[in-house]
Amino acid sequence: MLDIARIRSETHGVEKVLHFNNAGSSLMPRPVYEAVKRVLDLENELGGYEVERRMAPELDAFYTEFAGLLNAKPHEVAWVENATRAWDMAFYGLPLQPGDRIITHASEYVSNYIALLQQAKRRGLEIDLCPSDESGQIDVAALERLIGPRTRLIALSHVPTQGGLVNPAEAVGRVAKAHGLFYLLDACQSVGQIDLDVQKIGCDILSGTGRKFLRGPRGTGFLWVSDRVIDQIEPPFADMRAADWTADQGYTLAKGARRFETWETYVGGRVGLMEAVRYARGLGLPAIEARVSGLAAELREGLSGLHAVRVRDLGVTRCGIVTFEKAGLEAREIYEALRVQGINVSVSNHSSARLDFGARGLSSLVRASVHYFNDEAEISRFLGAVEALK
Ligand SMILES: *Cc1c(COP(=O)(O)O)cnc(C)c1O
Repeated sequence: MLDIARIRSETHGVEKVLHFNNAGSSLMPRPVYEAVKRVLDLENELGGYEVERRMAPELDAFYTEFAGLLNAKPHEVAWVENATRAWDMAFYGLPLQPGDRIITHASEYVSNYIALLQQAKRRGLEIDLCPSDESGQIDVAALERLIGPRTRLIALSHVPTQGGLVNPAEAVGRVAKAHGLFYLLDACQSVGQIDLDVQKIGCDILSGTGRKFLRGPRGTGFLWVSDRVIDQIEPPFADMRAADWTADQGYTLAKGARRFETWETYVGGRVGLMEAVRYARGLGLPAIEARVSGLAAELREGLSGLHAVRVRDLGVTRCGIVTFEKAGLEAREIYEALRVQGINVSVSNHSSARLDFGARGLSSLVRASVHYFNDEAEISRFLGAVEALK
């Protein structure tokens, strides 16, 4: 059981706002805020390189904390400044040839899809869109049928940015393994709210961000690459952290996931994100997952009971992201009306979810995303505010 009173007392923001925008950027817990601030203060006093030296134990703990979080090995983890670049560092480095086929799904993240389109154009790759089953999640039977001799990669978002759907990542992992395909999982919206285990999921690569459900600072992210495939991936950029200049005309790529990192980094962000992972693990991911899905189910049920409100989440399993619409009001108007009352949500638009919203005839939805530090009183207040909107 989580001690919600203590957790809330360690979350300064809950005194100021009703924060249902954890899928956008969550509120940091105090130890995270203090870790970042401490680095900044020390840099101000002592100098950046000197502080990095002093922070070496915390910077090493970045890798072991993530390894613990994901059931991985520390050398399979890379620090990257955001999830998009983390995903890119792996995707752009995969050994794909002209004519190779990539399978993805309508829930794929906008920036990933743009990268797929760009690489399809530049490298002559083909994209196959796997259909959804009747619940809206990726159809695993259809996935199996879609695989052909040139299929090389499955790229999937575990949880889309625009809805509560949780794709069946483990079932997809079994298919990927059976057919010897690379499996790249975007876990940006699942890490920190769902208990992830890369061995169970069976993915080869997993990317995530710091500021969302992990409650880390902005401008932070990570990449996990299984040591089964690291040596097959040539990073699209290599610098003096990713490689050693071992001969006048030669270099050697670093071992492990370090080859996906860059030399210059945001030290305060790395320490802050490490602290965020430590904090989440201290609470326990199974307890976090249960709390988040419970609150979200309560919110969905409450919203469904309101006049003119329709909840639009897809999937068999649903997470802390709740999307809805209210007849007669634009999502933007709802967002604004809530914002002036100190209630934070966000809006998901067709322009960043074309395949998903296009197929469902949607232009935009309100996205309310809860975290474990939210509580029932906030849900009641939120429901009252949505009910009162005209
Ligand atoms: C937010 C998000 C990203 C991008 O994360 P950044 O850290 O902003 O680069 C990728 N995938 C999904 C599913 C997201 O929701």
